Amino acid sequence: MKHSITCQCEHRFEVDIPELVNLDEKTKVIEELCNGTFLTIICPSCDTPLKPEFPLIIEWPSHKTRLQVLPEFDRGAFYTNKVQAAPHTEIVIGYPEAADRIMVLREGLDPIIIEALKYYLLLKADEMNPEAEATAWFAGKNRETLEFHVHGLRNEEVAVSNIPFTVYTKTSEEYHRNPDIEPFKSLRFGPYVSVQNLLRPELE
Ligand SMILES: [Zn+2]
Repeated sequence: MKHSITCQCEHRFEVDIPELVNLDEKTKVIEELCNGTFLTIICPSCDTPLKPEFPLIIEWPSHKTRLQVLPEFDRGAFYTNKVQAAPHTEIVIGYPEAADRIMVLREGLDPIIIEALKYYLLLKADEMNPEAEATAWFAGKNRETLEFHVHGLRNEEVAVSNIPFTVYTKTSEEYHRNPDIEPFKSLRFGPYVSVQNLLRPELE
């Protein structure tokens, strides 16, 4: 679909953005999502790399996944039911969250358990620095640990946190014993599973 983009240099141009990508057919998109280069558009006038976000469907049949990616811009509209999810589709909001989810699924991990671990990390971050608006991101699976990056704790620094895989297993057991207890219950908002659901301000 053609979209019109306006750069900071005020140059306005048209780009053709796919509405749907199939990761089994376009495996290079997996790498592009994970390294942050996906849909980076270079302004033809001033060469600035731009990262606009557009609605996108990601299909990944081999991982039984269909993800509807909403632009970060639509977050508020989604919570107030102004943006509806397609049936049989999970939601993620913003390309960074899409990339995070693809990395989690690529490692064969359960997104809701990863989001719960992020929640525990952010609780700890909040104790350390209540002023900070920290965010937590999945950064990969090592031999016996899961690596997370916490942004926003201190200036530009990224805090690296390694959580033993045994904690993942224990959290997963807790979840399967009782999926309706917290924090699992509040991590899900309809088709949208994200730690952001626990952090959003109360709606009126
Ligand atoms: Zn430009």
